[in-house]
Amino acid sequence: MRFVSTKGNAKPVLFKQAALNGLAPDGGLYIPGEWPTLSNDFWSNIQGKNLQEIGYSMCRPFIEELNEEVVHTIIKDGINFDAPLVALNENSYVLELFHGPTLAFKDFGARFMARTFSAFREDKGQDLIILAATSGDTGSAVAQGFLGVEGIKVCLLYPSGKVSHIQELQLTTAGQNVTALEVDGTFDDCQRMVKQAFSDDSLNEQLLLSSANSINIARLIPQMFYYTYALSQLAADKEPIFCVPSGNFGNLTAGLMAERLGMPAAGFVAATNANDVIPEYLQTGSFNPRESKQTISNAMDVGRPSNFERMHYLFDGDYKKMRSSIWGADFSDRKTKEAIKKVYEDYGYLMDPHTAIAFLAVEQYKKQAQGYFEEAPSAPFVILSTAHPAKFGDVIEPVINEEVEIPERLSRCLEKKKKSIGLENDYTVLKEWLLQNY
Ligand SMILES: *Cc1c(COP(=O)(O)O)cnc(C)c1O
Repeated sequence: MRFVSTKGNAKPVLFKQAALNGLAPDGGLYIPGEWPTLSNDFWSNIQGKNLQEIGYSMCRPFIEELNEEVVHTIIKDGINFDAPLVALNENSYVLELFHGPTLAFKDFGARFMARTFSAFREDKGQDLIILAATSGDTGSAVAQGFLGVEGIKVCLLYPSGKVSHIQELQLTTAGQNVTALEVDGTFDDCQRMVKQAFSDDSLNEQLLLSSANSINIARLIPQMFYYTYALSQLAADKEPIFCVPSGNFGNLTAGLMAERLGMPAAGFVAATNANDVIPEYLQTGSFNPRESKQTISNAMDVGRPSNFERMHYLFDGDYKKMRSSIWGADFSDRKTKEAIKKVYEDYGYLMDPHTAIAFLAVEQYKKQAQGYFEEAPSAPFVILSTAHPAKFGDVIEPVINEEVEIPERLSRCLEKKKKSIGLENDYTVLKEWLLQNY
């Protein structure tokens, strides 16, 4: 099983190389070059299978280089928390992806990645540097996932003043092998600088760099697991519509990948905040990346969604094909707050702002787009809940007029002191900093 570049001008490589390279040498993103079929038996007996069993079966064909035992251990230690499917109302379910250590779905990717990287790292007498841009949740998940892993250093770039208070503390208080660079710019600026670092030959001759953003295929592989796990928790023969709160579209792309492995799905809903580049593309067929806008669902403030490249590839560059699998909608901050309040009042369920956007998209789909996918009218909706509401207390508390209880694993970092290094929004400054400090 080899991975190819979306741009088509790079040598197909095995998983290890794809994961450690991050970006393909031609500037494209790695994607499986073929789709192994999982046995019919796997899909027809999916009900009741647990997350780890599913994880093992889904990732095994992609990772030839590691033996069975190592892959089992990666899954067992990395995916060591649940992703329960909770019924919200008739026909809608919430898939809670926030039961990991940093309370966001990014834990799936980061924990899997940290363990595969440490299995792959050969002692070259040189540290591997994980360079990642974060809009909030990636940073904390990566910091946690790689914390204290020998031979690996983590360098996080985050946009100053544009992540929530708790997110900032989570990503600046890890210490040890983790450094947070506070960039005077937006998330897109951080992402641009990181991408530039990976394609800078002179830098890569001197440092062993790797990425932890969703440009890295190693993050998307474990994200396929929970789509299938949702299915295992639904009644048999139900093909759901998955509704995904999206920014960089790694999460949604992982769903499309699971579908290529044979997972039954009636369709996907791409739900965004005001950063609506992909819903617009689905409507017009024209892709216009632009500056990101700041919203209360800040982890989705992405104006140049990098996984569009993979989506485009998966649908052969044909937006009509993409439309047949994905429906999109975007929502304002005002609507988001209304949804948080409504869901709390009507169902006694508290959603974080990102999840609330997916809820809004389901409601709008039911009103305006029923039948868009050729599903049986009874297709259930699975809303992917990407973060725990306590991470966004500053947004939620004024909306519901109540305090949001903070789980213990989150309150621990609140007692620590922020430690970051300010950085100009300029690639040459980043490069210099990296060369001086690693
Ligand atoms: C990262 C993140 C998203 C967006 O996920 P993508 O894979 O970038 O589309 C949504 N919600 C939360 C809480 C996140 O942390």
